Amino acid sequence: MAILGIDLGTTNSLACVWKDGKPELVKNSLGELLTPSVVCLDKEGNLAVGAVAKEQLITDPEDTAASFKRWMGTPKTFTLGGRTFTPPELSALVLEKLRRDAEEALGEPVTEAVISVPAYFNDNQRSATKLAAQLAGLKADRIINEPSAAALAYRLVHGEGDACLIIFDFGGGTLDVSVVECFENVIEITAIAGDNRLGGNDVDEAIARYFCAFNELRPGSLNAEQQAILLRQAEQCKCALSWSNLAVMCLPGPDGSSYTLTLTRDLLFRLCEELFERMKRVLARAIRDSGRNIGEIDHVILVGGSSKLAVLPDFIASLFGKPPLILDDPDTIVARGVGVCAGIKERSGEIRDIVMTDVCPFTLGTSVVNDDKDQNPHMSVMIERNSVLPVSRTDRFYTTRDNQEKIRVDILQGEEYYARDNLKLGEVLITVPPEPAGKQWVKTTFTYDINGVLQVEVENPSTARKKTAYVVNPSLHLSEEELEQKLQELAAIRSQLDQSEEEQLLLATAERIFAESTGRLRKETGRLLDLYRAMLAEGGGPARRHRERKWMKSQLEKLEKYREGEVFDLELPDSWEDDGE
Ligand code: ADP
Ligand code: MG
Repeated sequence: MAILGIDLGTTNSLACVWKDGKPELVKNSLGELLTPSVVCLDKEGNLAVGAVAKEQLITDPEDTAASFKRWMGTPKTFTLGGRTFTPPELSALVLEKLRRDAEEALGEPVTEAVISVPAYFNDNQRSATKLAAQLAGLKADRIINEPSAAALAYRLVHGEGDACLIIFDFGGGTLDVSVVECFENVIEITAIAGDNRLGGNDVDEAIARYFCAFNELRPGSLNAEQQAILLRQAEQCKCALSWSNLAVMCLPGPDGSSYTLTLTRDLLFRLCEELFERMKRVLARAIRDSGRNIGEIDHVILVGGSSKLAVLPDFIASLFGKPPLILDDPDTIVARGVGVCAGIKERSGEIRDIVMTDVCPFTLGTSVVNDDKDQNPHMSVMIERNSVLPVSRTDRFYTTRDNQEKIRVDILQGEEYYARDNLKLGEVLITVPPEPAGKQWVKTTFTYDINGVLQVEVENPSTARKKTAYVVNPSLHLSEEELEQKLQELAAIRSQLDQSEEEQLLLATAERIFAESTGRLRKETGRLLDLYRAMLAEGGGPARRHRERKWMKSQLEKLEKYREGEVFDLELPDSWEDDGE
């Protein structure tokens, strides 16, 4: 019995099986490879999944759900046709359709599947995906990361030599960039970075906005249906430019008139410029985190439907100095890789076992103060994001006050510099003998395993006292809404601080660089932040503060230049550590 490989996408889903020594995509009941991940349950109780439901997004948006993959592992629900659905339930309806269509096409029952998920999916999101499979009558104990699947598809064509790949997965609503290293029978994701608000939809919106501006239509003047039609046309024209030089958009106006726009590749390129800037930043982050430089990247592999964007290869080529690799059809690559994985699961003789490793997508650490006067504990990183799992790290933390009796080790998750801006997952409190500050210390070990369990062990060597805490699923103690709310609260608190706007901006910029970087750069940014904070705390007259601002600004510019320069070979400052004054 065949195991079904499934790419359960935010926008589109596909199925693939391993057959006669190669992956074979399975067509749905309409003869299509792509099944839109859209579900509609109308007021009369008629259920539609896939292409039909996608049409109903325009005619009956209230009873139609799309992009629910974004909400996997959160408590959000959707109401369609008066019934409430969770994201796994909606995903189950899509999986169910894929399963039934595959049974029809293959002429045999299907009870088992391998499903791909984004590499950054945490344990809750993975469990939600497995639950969806279960609800659809599929056993899915194998979950594979989308970039690993893409790398598997690449290996199938390009053999077994060593390769360092960038998997550039540009889908309907998200961009996921992964650095993947392949050697022997190992496929290892060494870094991931992404923007979950950057996808094909944004291109459609940019085109629609331009259409309105060009035709002097006020954005608010279109009703919801016209807006939906406009976006639909924008998408169609965008796709048409993959094979044609022009595409024409046309919207009916008042009294039989019409609004039109002729879209060319040049125009599309211009409309995408802002999106390209954002892509560049995501790419820089992934490459920087992988510890590789741009010259060491063997291939950039374009994956995902939006990778067919007519102007994308030119943009990638301009960044990397060589064209990206296009493996046949970008929007089926992940599915084909999952098909290979299904073959491995079936233990087909034609392919050997491949080891795939995972990374921790977020930073874990604890809070520390510089001395007993320091009011703003900051994050001391224990496990850096993108560390390969399982991972374990040990560090020492000292008392900061004389006769201090307890040491508290906070367990934090996040990329922010100040401890309070990160998510607190728990704490370990341990008693130490009272002595002068800095004499007593604890040995702290963070261990994060492949099942999403974090173990924190704290030991005081002088008393041999030891305490251990476990945190399951460090990533999802808050729902996305709660997280958003918490972040807003924090932002409000921060803005109350007594600083000029310019000083706030400098601090915020430094905090962002801290959040975006890893390794030595992150440490240096932290040091710089400490220093500047201390300067601000000391006060000083306007002239001095002005000088300090100028200094801080130049330091930050050097840091930024250093980050981008090293990756994209721009002009590199000799050193960003000397202070330039
Ligand atoms: P996801 O992985 O999010 O489910 P897909 O990889 O299927 O999504 O990508 C869907 C996106 O691909 C849509 O935004 C669609 O407009 C876009 N797309 C499909 N074909 C083309 C094309 N020829 N040119 C540009 N964009 C395309
Ligand atoms: Mg996808």
